Amino acid sequence: MKTLSHSISKILKQKSFSQEDICILLSIHDPANYQLLQTKADQIQKQYFQDTLHYRGLIEFSNICIKDCLYCGIRKSNLDFDRYQMSLDEIMDCVKWNHENQYGSITLQAGERQDPEFIELVTTILQRSQKITQGKIGITLSCGEQTKETYEKWFEAGAHRYLLRIETSNSELYQKIHPQDGLHQFEKRVECLQNIRKIGYQLGTGVMIGLPHQTITDLANDILFFKRIGAHMIGMGPYIVHSSTPLAKIANNSVKDIQHRFQLGLNMIAVTRIVLKNVNIAATTALQALDPIGREKGVEAGANILMPITTTKKYRKDYQLYDNKPCIEDTSEQCKRCLMGRVSMVQRKVGFGEQGNSPSYKTEKGNYYDPFLERRNHSTELY
Ligand code: SAH
Ligand code: SF4
Repeated sequence: MKTLSHSISKILKQKSFSQEDICILLSIHDPANYQLLQTKADQIQKQYFQDTLHYRGLIEFSNICIKDCLYCGIRKSNLDFDRYQMSLDEIMDCVKWNHENQYGSITLQAGERQDPEFIELVTTILQRSQKITQGKIGITLSCGEQTKETYEKWFEAGAHRYLLRIETSNSELYQKIHPQDGLHQFEKRVECLQNIRKIGYQLGTGVMIGLPHQTITDLANDILFFKRIGAHMIGMGPYIVHSSTPLAKIANNSVKDIQHRFQLGLNMIAVTRIVLKNVNIAATTALQALDPIGREKGVEAGANILMPITTTKKYRKDYQLYDNKPCIEDTSEQCKRCLMGRVSMVQRKVGFGEQGNSPSYKTEKGNYYDPFLERRNHSTELY
């Protein structure tokens, strides 16, 4: 154990990291070495964000999906629950709630649709959100794969960031967890990420951790992929079984497996912080599904973003990507109170009223860059 601690301490002092170094760090599972890892990640987090966390109020505005990802509870073939599409008024009420409660940014997430009505709906939500918040609210979209034109249209309408997880950077594993029907292609996903970045969004990606057949080397390559693709923000979390999905049939799901996936989830956050440094990293709700204080542990491992669910309560039960999703019985008010307690437990504060953009994006664009200033001035003319 002593030699292992010694080599871990040595790796943690390095400025750059090989795939092998990353594998060693990701394999940590004993408390003493995890402490070393966490301390280093925490130090880097504090360097860029001090003790401030930022919120992204999550609005899950539709569970209708054209895709059939083998792991996901709302996949097209799952007929066990009601499909919903929130009305424009309901969505705007959620946006207003976020703004009034000083959540500086929102994430608009949905199952994937590519039809013209959906594209128009998202465009209208973006324009109205900019208008009612006088361009103050930060907006992340998480609406899956779209054409370059659609991404451009949404960027023009006021989206700042786009979150599209690569799910796994191993193309063979990607094939195993998606149907082979021409609609779920690894190359297409990578092309979308490249387009998103080129257009000027803050690019968010991430993976599921602990997938069947996934190895430590795959996860190390995922971190190197985040770097290569130039991600400004990372949203990743443990894979959690949804019992009525095809992947559930081959996934190991004993208590030991779940604990292992949870620890790997924390290690991935810490190592990503250490390797990528100044990117935004979310402590996702999936961590809390596996451990009651999972999100707090995610923050302690180096995450600086929290995504409180702000979807209208009646829809929450029908947006279950995985089993035992937390917060589905709560209102946005209850989530707010609960999360404040959690934030103070880890001695952090929330940057209320701030967008909390990724420092890596700001650096890239010349310390302060606001691509929306012009558009904001322009957008007032639209109404
Ligand atoms: N349809 C969009 C956004 C909604 S799904 C998209 O796919 O990008 C958002 C994320 O939920 C997915 O990227 C996936 O990583 C995650 N997810 C789906 N099923 C999951 C499961 N069983 N366990 C953990 N995460 C899951
Ligand atoms: Fe649809 Fe996203 Fe779920 Fe895939 S992960 S089935 S695209 S909601």
